[in-house]
Amino acid sequence: MKYNVIERGDDISKELTERFHTLAAQQGMPRDEENPDIVLSIGGDGTMLQAFHKYTKQLDHIAFVGIHTGHLGFFADWKPHELDDLASLMFSVTTPEELHVVQYPVVEIEITTEQGIETHLALNEFTLRGIEVSLVARLHVNDEMFEMFRGDGICISSPAGSTAYNKSLGGAMVHPSLEAIQIAEIASINNRVYRTLGSSMILPKHHHCDIYPKAQQNMLLSLDHLYMQRSDVVSIRCRVASNVKVKFARFRPFPFWNRVREAFVGLEVK
Ligand code: NAP
Ligand code: MN
Repeated sequence: MKYNVIERGDDISKELTERFHTLAAQQGMPRDEENPDIVLSIGGDGTMLQAFHKYTKQLDHIAFVGIHTGHLGFFADWKPHELDDLASLMFSVTTPEELHVVQYPVVEIEITTEQGIETHLALNEFTLRGIEVSLVARLHVNDEMFEMFRGDGICISSPAGSTAYNKSLGGAMVHPSLEAIQIAEIASINNRVYRTLGSSMILPKHHHCDIYPKAQQNMLLSLDHLYMQRSDVVSIRCRVASNVKVKFARFRPFPFWNRVREAFVGLEVK
C-alpha cells in the first residue's frame, strides 16, 4: 500500500507527520503523493476537507484516515498519542483490498453557465449566498417549482456534513448510511410577500434540487472550505453523487452517534 500525509502545518501536526514518515520508511511502506492508496490527514476536520479536495478525482481508489491535533474531529478520530498504534494497524494491511472501509455519500453540484456545465463534489456542503444584497433564487425540486427564496443563502449538506455548517442552521443530524442531501435555509426572509418552507428538507438519492438565481446576481459559492465569487450562474443542480462516495479506513469502530455525543453533548451521562 502507498500512502500520503496531508497535515495542517502547525508544530504538532508537522512533528507527527515526520514521525509517521520515519515509521513508514522503517516498515518499507512507500509514499506516493500523486497516487496513494491511503491518505492520512493530520490536523482538524478542515485538513480532511483539504485532503478530500486534493484527491477528488481519485475517490474510487483512495481511503482516508485522520488524526486530530485539535479538539475531537468528525473525520479525524485518532488522537496524537495513538499515532504508533494507528501506524502499526496500517502497516499490517498489505493491499488496499484488505482495508476495512466505510463509505459516505457526498454532494454533487452541477453549475450551468452560458459557457457550459461544471461538476463539483463537496464532502460537507455546498452553499450559495448573496453578496451585498440578499440572495434571490427560485428552487425547483424534481423539476417542479417549489419556492422563491429570498434571504442570506442556502446550504446543501451531505450526511457527514450535517454536523458542520448545517447544524448551526438548525438542520438535522443525518446518519451517513442514508444516501441523502439536506437543504437548509440561511436566514430566509418570510413575510406576506416572500414565503419559504422555513424547515430544512432531506432529499433521497435520485431526487434533485435546481436553484435558479436571479440573472447576473453576484453570489458567493462555497464547496466545503473553498469559496468562489460568481455572477455568471444560470442554474445549479444539487443531488447525492451517483457514482462516487468517500471512503474512510476504519481500523476500529467509532459509531457516528458516539461522535455526535462526544462532540456536542459531552461524555458523561448524569
Ligand atoms: P473552520 O472555520 O475551522 O470550521 C468550522 C468548524 O467546523 C471547525 O470546528 C471544524 O473542525 C468543524 N467541522 C468541519 N467539518 C465538520 C463536520 N463534518 N462535522 C462537525 N464539525 C465539522 O473551517 P474549516 O476547518 O475550513 O471547515 C470548513 C467547514 O466549516 C465548512 O465545510 C462548514 O461546514 C464549516 N462552517 C461552519 C459555519 C458555521 O457553523 N456557522 C460557517 C462556515 C463554515 P476543525 O476545527 O477540526 O477543522
Ligand atoms: Mn478548521
